[in-house]
Amino acid sequence: MKLVALPAFSDNYIWMLHDGRRAVVVDPGDAAPVQAALEHDDLVLAAILVTHHHPDHVGGVDALRALLKGPVYGPAREAIPRPFTPLAGGEHVDVLGLDFEVIDVPGHTAGHIAYAQRGGAAAPILFCGDTLFSAGCGRLFEGTPAQMADSLARLNALPGDTQVCCTHEYTLSNLRFAAAVEPGNADIAAYAETCRRLREAGRPTLPSSLALERRVNPFLRCSVPEVAAAARSHDGRHDATGRDAVATLAALREWKNHYR
Ligand code: ZN
Ligand code: FE
Repeated sequence: MKLVALPAFSDNYIWMLHDGRRAVVVDPGDAAPVQAALEHDDLVLAAILVTHHHPDHVGGVDALRALLKGPVYGPAREAIPRPFTPLAGGEHVDVLGLDFEVIDVPGHTAGHIAYAQRGGAAAPILFCGDTLFSAGCGRLFEGTPAQMADSLARLNALPGDTQVCCTHEYTLSNLRFAAAVEPGNADIAAYAETCRRLREAGRPTLPSSLALERRVNPFLRCSVPEVAAAARSHDGRHDATGRDAVATLAALREWKNHYR
């Protein structure tokens, strides 16, 4: 089974999983790179998985239907191109013989879902859309910090060797922010160096792994005292008492929205 990140637009990835014969794509915002990849490797498109309704994730769905030999799966509570098989979380979908669990992860959008595979011979795979980025998380367009904290906790409960397949190449800019939050975190500095080299070579920084994200991603580290303290000192509400992880996440998200 091969996992490939097809670049689209300026910084999107359309993830493609294929077995040399059949392929599945996730969040095809543009049909062209998918068509090119299918043709290049002579693959049949067996399914499309959609995580949320934003145009850069669904824009290519209708154009791909002519080639599609299977279902479009998508979030039940969002308006995505019809027809599709609606999923709300808790279901299992078969993807090229692999079992993927659907996880409800509201926050970036209200009905955002993720697809998590576990078990099998290779490291498990997570398609997390715009919920979890390497060293960051999605903006809260339709959800609350509490919802995003719950959603990230659900993803963080997956095994450490899970391959985290995010839909945007935001890693280096996220790591600049992560280093501002935790200047003393050596894992962040080392990972930034690795990612710089990958980008210079024209390669994606993804997939990441959940184990790595636990060490470098401030949004998964809201319970770490240094992260909570940085969030506290930044948002001006210098409450001396402890604050919960949700308040820390809210402050981090707000800080990052304005961080340049
Ligand atoms: Zn989005
Ligand atoms: Fe996006």
